[in-house]
Amino acid sequence: MWPGWVGGCLNAGMSGREVGGAADVCVVGLGPTGRGLAHRAMTAGLTVVAVDPRPERLWAPTYSCWVDELPEWVPEKAIASRIERPAVWTSRELRIDRAYCVLSKRGLFESLPLDDATVVRGRARTVEPHRVELADGTEVRAAVVFDTRGQSSPGTRRSASAHGIFLDEETAAPMVTPGEGLMLDWRPENGAGPEEPPSFLYAVPLGDGTVIFEETSLGLRGGMPQHELRKRTLNRLAAHGIQLRGDEPTEAAHYPLDETPPKAGRGQVVPYGSRGGLMHPITGYCVADSLSQVDKAIDAVQRGEDPIEAVWSREARLVHWMRMRGVYGLGRLTTEQSVAMFEAFFTRPPRQQRALLSAHDDYSALSAALFMTVATTWPFNWRYDLVGWRNRNRWVGWDYGRPGTNDPLPHHEDTPAT
Ligand SMILES: Cc1cc2nc3c(=O)[nH]c(=O)nc-3n(C[C@H](O)[C@H](O)[C@H](O)COP(=O)(O)OP(=O)(O)OC[C@H]3O[C@@H](n4cnc5c(N)ncnc54)[C@H](O)[C@@H]3O)c2cc1C
Repeated sequence: MWPGWVGGCLNAGMSGREVGGAADVCVVGLGPTGRGLAHRAMTAGLTVVAVDPRPERLWAPTYSCWVDELPEWVPEKAIASRIERPAVWTSRELRIDRAYCVLSKRGLFESLPLDDATVVRGRARTVEPHRVELADGTEVRAAVVFDTRGQSSPGTRRSASAHGIFLDEETAAPMVTPGEGLMLDWRPENGAGPEEPPSFLYAVPLGDGTVIFEETSLGLRGGMPQHELRKRTLNRLAAHGIQLRGDEPTEAAHYPLDETPPKAGRGQVVPYGSRGGLMHPITGYCVADSLSQVDKAIDAVQRGEDPIEAVWSREARLVHWMRMRGVYGLGRLTTEQSVAMFEAFFTRPPRQQRALLSAHDDYSALSAALFMTVATTWPFNWRYDLVGWRNRNRWVGWDYGRPGTNDPLPHHEDTPAT
């Protein structure tokens, strides 16, 4: 056993030493995408060193995706809750004939074992193409270094912001029952006026007896503050007769949507996951696509080719570019315009919906989806906002005021593991 090997991990604190020999792959950051990458590299027979300050910790956010986005090697136990026909509320209720799921944090974590990898507990200080140095001076050398350290805070970039409140199923029942879910609820129940930045409700059962109610804003520069999102969530719940105690667990999201894919080229650090441009610019999802692209990157490593080029084909880059146009449009719409736009989008044929929401490189269906969504958004002149001919900076610098004293934000807790 290595000195410092504790519970399957090497503890940093071994200053000046080198671990892993010359590994095939070093993965820096064990969020869901880094862990998926390290696991698949290990399964493919590569020697893997993985680094994270807390490698055994379950991830804090509640992750979801469309069931068909998950690669076939992800087992059923990674899914905590399924919704066969999620609902979207625009001016009316629409049903999506596509199964959606909430991932089980523990189930997914355990589906990505790292038994044959060298897992090092520590924080990377220097990340270079073939060398990683930890804060305590420990060094890892590898033929390929993947950087999966996630994203930095968004500042004024186009962002996803959400405030989620976990309620037990009984309390949630007037709005969401087991097996049902609200993907996007645009009903005018959040208390925001028509001249305020838009947000919608996302509410799904987690499979552990609780339901998350999450008011969400997408595409606003700098995002929307937690106190505003919480106020809006409470308004929606109250509109359905749901009162809270005030001490319910919560989760917060605030991260950038506009990370660009890395430039191709061998011999460089390979950014992957949310750090590597795999964050979907419109939905804010990244986990399922990162898991489903991982084998392309590993195959490229095994063949001595560029993993960035393998993941980022011309078609995939075009898809990302078009989605970026989508998030620019989204971030300047009013609530009314958002409702009209989502109604136009969710009545497109399934392949076009999938091309926007999920497919990594279906550029022809995506261009049709975007064109037709704009072309069928009504009234006609709202299309000028969508394409950016006017109101480009509509919500930039919006003043949300200060948190109200009678509705303090609850102490933020790590969310329960599902
Ligand atoms: C509340 C919330 C809900 C979300 N819901 C969804 C969802 O439903 N579906 C979805 O796909 N996405 C969702 N997201 C987005 C989600 O954050 C990302 O998709 C996902 O976390 C990206 O995973 P990642 O592995 O790329 O990065 P991260 O999850 O950020 O992981 C980065 C890892 O790197 C480690 N690290 C950081 N710095 C260092 C260092 N110096 N050295 C070593 N390790 C380091 C960190 O400890 C961490 O383990 C949600 C986000 C939030 C906040």
